[in-house]
Amino acid sequence: MNAHILLFLLTMACDEPGEDTSTATEEAPEGCLDHTWTCAELEAAIAAAYGDAELECTDGDETFIISASGVPLYDSTQTTPNEITAQDYRIEIPLTAVCADEAVDVTDSRGSIAISIAGLAIFGASDVNGNDAIEFEGPTMDECWGHAAPDGAYHHHSEPVCVFGTDTDPSEHPMDDGHPPLIALSYDGFGIYAINDDDPEGSELDQCGGQTDPERGYHYHMTETYPYTFGCYAGER
Ligand SMILES: [Zn+2]
Ligand SMILES: [Zn+2]
Repeated sequence: MNAHILLFLLTMACDEPGEDTSTATEEAPEGCLDHTWTCAELEAAIAAAYGDAELECTDGDETFIISASGVPLYDSTQTTPNEITAQDYRIEIPLTAVCADEAVDVTDSRGSIAISIAGLAIFGASDVNGNDAIEFEGPTMDECWGHAAPDGAYHHHSEPVCVFGTDTDPSEHPMDDGHPPLIALSYDGFGIYAINDDDPEGSELDQCGGQTDPERGYHYHMTETYPYTFGCYAGER
């Protein structure tokens, strides 16, 4: 047996989570339910955020568009060698999120997997080397837990804590029924809500970091622990 085959077999046997790629599929979450947004609720969420995002949305359409510069309104003190530059996002997202037959892993995606209601990019949990981005790159991040990629794209790997402003915590902006607020929209169309203070580590969430309730249907929650935002796309993209 040559070394390559041996290495391949060892890799298969170990099944390290770090070996996942963004195309790796997982079992679809059992409780997934399709969810249709109204333009009014998306508009209200974006209006409440501290950012320059703008919404193009018509109820009944297949998709909506979020446009944004990708640059935070606050002064960032991030310390990567990269300068924050405007990205001029125009991101098309399903207005009805449809549960997929198989979930797609995003923890190793190395790029944008969602956009915050402030118009800032949300990256997966891994840094460029496949390490836990918060653990390994946390020191380069500003007080809002964001920093710039080599192409200048400002992004978060965890809850964007300044999404409602620099002096206000997302948990101070609950929805009318007390549920944590909408923070970001995943590219599969499902909403990503703030950390639930009753379950900050997400122990009640499914393998994708989601849950279903009668008000919001299927949705993700950010967590204080890895993978911080969500673990897999439960919906079709
Ligand atoms: Zn990063
Ligand atoms: Zn919830």
